[in-house]
Amino acid sequence: MKNIAIFPGSFDPITKGHENIVRRALPLFDKIIVAIGHNADKRNLFSIEQRMDFIKKTFADTPKIIVETYEGLTVDFCKKHNANFLLRGLRNATDFEFERDIASFNKDLSPNLETLFMLTELAYSHISSSVVREVLRHNGDIAKFLPNALKNETFN
Ligand code: ADP
Repeated sequence: MKNIAIFPGSFDPITKGHENIVRRALPLFDKIIVAIGHNADKRNLFSIEQRMDFIKKTFADTPKIIVETYEGLTVDFCKKHNANFLLRGLRNATDFEFERDIASFNKDLSPNLETLFMLTELAYSHISSSVVREVLRHNGDIAKFLPNALKNETFN
């Protein structure tokens, strides 16, 4: 059986923290699908096309990592893609409290799907997409928080 993991999130935008989790998890899986959850009620800074483009550029060197978008329940997206693992990163205790409930919920909905947590490397534990958006809103330099593959992008 192939081991396929879904790494779901908003990725508005993808950061060095996200990239680090996916690359460290790569030896465990045959394929990792970075899945951009599309929620019509949520206002995003970057369009779904931009977010997808940033993720594709980040992992252009790694064919085992692919990018998709989805609407609806994450467990349904996992079933559709025969994924048996959900990958999540944990930065701190707040992430843990939140993620534990989501993982328990997903376990009820889909008992064969395992959520796998990886601890963030300390160097990235302060990075979040929301802080990156805040820095960008005030015309700060966000390049150091984003994957190196995006260093030539223009963001505003
Ligand atoms: P959400 O919209 O669900 O908050 P995000 O796009 O912020 O999703 O993040 C997706 C996943 O990446 C989550 O598991 C989150 O904990 C993890 N993550 C976010 N930032 C970092 C970081 N700096 N280091 C490691 N993991 C992170």
